[in-house]
Amino acid sequence: MAYLSTTLKAVSPFSPLVKKHNPNSNNNSALLAYHTPNPTSKQGRSVIHKEQMFVAVHGVPVLVESSWRLPMSDVVVVRKKSAFLERSWNSRDVRKLVRVVGVHLLSLLAPFHFNWSAFKLCLWLSLLIIGICITLSYHRNLSHRSFNLPKWLEYLFAYGGVLAFQCGGYENVNDLARAPFYRFLHRTFVLHLMAYALLLYLCGGMPFLVWGIGVATVARLHTTFLVNSVCHIWGTRAWNTPDFSRNNWWVAILTLGEGWHNNHHAFQFSARHGLEWWQLDVTWYLIRFLEAIGLATNVKLPTEAQKKRMALI
Ligand SMILES: [Zn+2]
Ligand SMILES: [Zn+2]
Repeated sequence: MAYLSTTLKAVSPFSPLVKKHNPNSNNNSALLAYHTPNPTSKQGRSVIHKEQMFVAVHGVPVLVESSWRLPMSDVVVVRKKSAFLERSWNSRDVRKLVRVVGVHLLSLLAPFHFNWSAFKLCLWLSLLIIGICITLSYHRNLSHRSFNLPKWLEYLFAYGGVLAFQCGGYENVNDLARAPFYRFLHRTFVLHLMAYALLLYLCGGMPFLVWGIGVATVARLHTTFLVNSVCHIWGTRAWNTPDFSRNNWWVAILTLGEGWHNNHHAFQFSARHGLEWWQLDVTWYLIRFLEAIGLATNVKLPTEAQKKRMALI
């Protein structure tokens, strides 16, 4: 029996932090290890026998006092870390916390303000926001530059991120020609959000506000978080990446393709996450459509040689 270890990032896959993959970051949620019967497995970098009660974390031996295996997974939690107490809070974190708690409180009012139009609005907004603004725009277009869009379309999709209560995607844009637009959006983010809330309220009263902002945002937040929690614990691995990333089909359905997370960690530049024909990736179909009508260009995909290099077997 052997343990392979690494740390799991507690940030959203759509967050710019993920690009840095800083092992010394203060924000790792837990210390995890692989439980594997085969010490020569290619799944990790370091192997240490359990009897020694140490695991290697980025090359540094760490004493293991207790551990437990996550159900239906080969991932072992070595040390639990409190995301609240063991993190260095800054004003940005606090603002985010207020926003997240706020939308959760708002969504609690949902049963008291239910009507079918508000419910349909919530479904459409969740789909559009997750599919286009977050997954296609923030993640694949802005964070990883997996493809290019004409400026007007890139800005339009990115603006939708405001509706998702998220402006983090803009921080990935470094090029000087586009930075002023994103800086403007970032600074005026709260104003746009307030205007959007007012518009929803004027169109459909409290039901639109509660379902269009509260429930839709909570649904979007939690499906996004699944990628970074579930997809590092449950699922299958096809590529030799030095992390816990997994391909998980049901998360891929909920997140319109982001659940093929082992594929994504292996080829972060790829516009396509569902690399097999049967791996449903709705965001990729959208990108292909944009490419077919001449709007998406320079669409990046892994080559056969790159796949061969990363394959587990
Ligand atoms: Zn990513
Ligand atoms: Zn990940």
